[in-house]
Parts: sequence; structure tokens; C-alpha cells
Amino acid sequence: MTTAVEQPAALERQSFPANGERARGFDLLRVPLLGRFLRWRGSRLALQTPLFGLSLMMIAHAFFGPDIAPKNLAALLTWVHFRGLVVVVILLAGNLFCMACPFLVMRDLARRWITPRWEWPRSLRNKWPSVALFVAVLFVYELFDLFSSPFWTGVLIVLYFGLATLVDLLFRRASFCKYLCPVGQFNFLSSTMAPLEVSVRDASICQSCQSKDCIRGVQIALPSRDGVTGLNMELPVIQRGCELALFQPRKVDNLDCTFCLDCVYACPHDNVGIVARLPSERLTHSGPRSGLGTIERRPDFTALITVFTFGALLNAFAMISPVYALEQAVAQATGLRVEWPILSGLFAFALIVEPAVLLGAAAFVTRWWSGTREGVLPLVKRFSRSLIPIGFGVWLAHYAFHFLTGFLTVIPVFQNAVRESFGTALLGKPMWQLGGLPEAVVFPIEVGFLGLGLIGSWAATWTITGEVATSRRNAAFLPWAAVHLTLFVVAVWIMTQPMDMRGTFLGG
Ligand code: SF4
Ligand code: SF4
Repeated sequence: MTTAVEQPAALERQSFPANGERARGFDLLRVPLLGRFLRWRGSRLALQTPLFGLSLMMIAHAFFGPDIAPKNLAALLTWVHFRGLVVVVILLAGNLFCMACPFLVMRDLARRWITPRWEWPRSLRNKWPSVALFVAVLFVYELFDLFSSPFWTGVLIVLYFGLATLVDLLFRRASFCKYLCPVGQFNFLSSTMAPLEVSVRDASICQSCQSKDCIRGVQIALPSRDGVTGLNMELPVIQRGCELALFQPRKVDNLDCTFCLDCVYACPHDNVGIVARLPSERLTHSGPRSGLGTIERRPDFTALITVFTFGALLNAFAMISPVYALEQAVAQATGLRVEWPILSGLFAFALIVEPAVLLGAAAFVTRWWSGTREGVLPLVKRFSRSLIPIGFGVWLAHYAFHFLTGFLTVIPVFQNAVRESFGTALLGKPMWQLGGLPEAVVFPIEVGFLGLGLIGSWAATWTITGEVATSRRNAAFLPWAAVHLTLFVVAVWIMTQPMDMRGTFLGG
């Protein structure tokens, strides 16, 4: 006999549905073969295992392979192929990297013997820790030129595995994914632009559902001493509910969703699918979201979106030649001989001063023109969601550049790794001449991605203006549209600058 137990009781008190009647169209889980594979409970491990094996290979190559980044699997796959594929796959489908995340393989294996005993600290149940880690990764990436260092890239991968495993062996549920993982936060925000969403198929079924297994999980029922079955961490779980605390009938969008499909396996009514929707359609939802609250009132979410968007420009800006001239000029003017204080200044300007000025000015003008009584800070929090499309567009354009201009370079690097490991060219002589698409072909694609991002941000802004200034929507729209246009123009300028040739093929 089985029954549902566990998970935060507060979630059960939520009324629903917020999703409404939807999900009548395309459903990935109903596609022949692929849908059947995904509905199989072992599918996540089947997807994770090859990536876990590849990660081990990358770690070995980082420490024992060539020290030239474009010829090393760790540096090449991490900074060219992985990043490029993540954003392209999100654009075409959804958060499939988190679905196949190799960092959780060791934790899931270890949890067979070790049961985490603690809840994640209440004071840290927000996005601030992941904002700090997001900035730290961006900073370390620039300071130590990780793109050109196989060794330090290997160290980063090992640290990532270690941290993910340690945190999730100490704390229950998916604490690392929800509160810490910078890659996860990147994927969560980006996948608001995805055309697919894990969602209920029929809201009316949830209305009458008694078990709510999608959130609570399914355990073997053992009667307790007083005859009442209650929360009991010791009972064997036969199927987890959502470890990210997303209750399906009230879940909105892909934020915090790892596409792990635990809710699909747990739902006794086969009522959860991976359904089609318009990209960014649910970004402008206002009001509470399951597991997240009201994001347009959360300063930590505003900070995360700001770092995501302005960090995209900063990361792209740090790739081009003018940044070296700027650093030189600052060094000469200040007499500084080490990079970290100059880089800190650049980060402080790009991630604090610049957004504070731009977003603060847009909110101030919105308040002034539209006549809304909402304060400047609440307006910034409300409209910050509109930055995600243009931010994603910048990441997409940047990563697509490296991926599309260098996607074939992985072939000779693999050939070379096999030749060096086995002492014979089992996969043939490395074809070092392979590269990717010419830059002239890729540039219009980059501009296209940026243009899509701009249109997405404008569309989101227009919807949000309805929340604050129904009679003077134009007045509320224009300041934010100007901010998005500024970001677009800066991004196009960056893409036209000579790039540092990091991560691209250097020749045999
Ligand atoms: S278990 Fe299934 S039917 Fe019940 S609330 Fe969750 S998604 Fe709806
Ligand atoms: S269980 Fe939670 S995180 Fe996993 S797919 Fe379902 S909603 Fe997303």
C-alpha cells in the first residue's frame, strides 16, 4: 500500500488552481518514443550518466591533458560547447541541462546510504546566496582567465561536484539547486524564454485530487503509534515529490524548475506534462507563484535578474580588445599593478552603478510621467522582469558566437585525447583544420538574437505597464523601452568589436 506523505505542510494550504485550464496543445510527453522514454523513471539517470562520464573525462584531461585551452577537453567543452548548447537548447526546448545535470549523480548515489537531516536555513531561503555565487563565478572567470586555463577549469568542475554533493547530503530536498547553484539560476531565468513548460494538463483534476503527490512525494505507508500517518523522514520514499517546492497547480513558468520530472512520476492521475507555450508568456504573471512567492516584490529576485542581464554585457565586454585598453588606462592613472582592484571597480560599475542609474532613472521617469503612486524601488522590482529577454538575448548572441564559430573543434581534440591516451590514433589523425561557421555568417545570427531579446523585453514591458498605469501606459512604457534599447545598442557595439580569441581553435 502506498500513500503520500512529506513536504512542507504550508504548501497544502494553498488554494488552487492558478494555472487555470491550459495545456491542451503540444505535450512532449505524448510524443511517441521520446515521450515514453521521458516518462520512464530511469530516464533522468540515463541522461545524466553520459554527461557524468564526460565530466570525469574532462577532469582527467584538465589535469593530465595538454595545457593549451583550445586543445583541452575541459576548457573547450566547458567554455565553448557546454555554454553554447545550454542557451540554444533552452531557446528551442527548455531547461534540459538541469534535467541531465551530472553534478547530482554523486549526491543521488550517496543519498542511498546517507539521509540529509537538516532543513536549509530559513534566513538563506532566497536568491541572495546564488547572486553572490553568480557574481563570484563571473569574477573568478575574468580574474583567472578560466577560458584559457584547463587546470583551473578542472579545479572549478571538481569544486562544483564537491559543493553540490556536500550541500545536498547535509540539507534536505534540492537545496543546492534552489538556493546556491549559479548555473541553475542562469538556466531558471533563461528558461522563461523556452517554448516548453512542465505544467498540469487539466486543472480540474487537481481540484479534486486528494493526495497531491506531485509535491508531497509517495512513500510506503506504515501506521504510526497513534494510527495516524504523518510526516516521517524515516519512511522509505518510493517516489520524490518536487524537491524545489513547486506545487503543480500553482506553479507558474519555469523559474526554479529543473525539469527533473519527479512531479510527472509522482502524480497518480498522469496529469503533468511538458507542454508548449509562447516563450516569455508567463514572465509577466503578477502575483504569487508556488515555491517563489511574488517575485516582483522580492529584492533578491531583482538583484538576480540585474546580475543576469548586466552580467551578460559585462561578460561579453570583457572579451573584446577595448577592455584591455581600459584596464591599462586605469592602471596607469592609479599606479595599480595588480588586476583584482581594477576588475573589482569594473564589476562594481557594471553590476551596481550602471543598473542603479539606468533602472532608477527609468523608474523615476515612469513615476513622473505616468502619475503612478508606486515608489521608485517598487517600480524597479516590478519592471526588472522585463530585462530577462534582452539579457538572455545577449548571453545567446555571445555564447552562440563561440559555439557556432568553433563547434567542430571538438573532433580533433577528441582524436588527440584518444591518441595520447592509447598511444595510437584509434579515431584517426586529428583534423586540426576543422572549425565552424565563418564570423561573417554568425554576426547576423547574433544581431537576430539580440533583436528577439529587445522585442521580448518591449512586449513584457507593455504587459507590465498594465499593472501600474492603465490610463497612461505609453508614459510608463517609454522609459523602460529606452533602457532596453540602450542595452541592445551596447550589445551590438560589443559584438562588432575585435574579440579576444579565447576558446577558438589555434591551429595544430
Ligand atoms: S498530484 Fe497530480 S492531480 Fe494531484 S495536484 Fe499534483 S499534479 Fe494535480
Ligand atoms: S518536480 Fe519540480 S523541479 Fe522537477 S519538473 Fe516537476 S516542477 Fe520542475
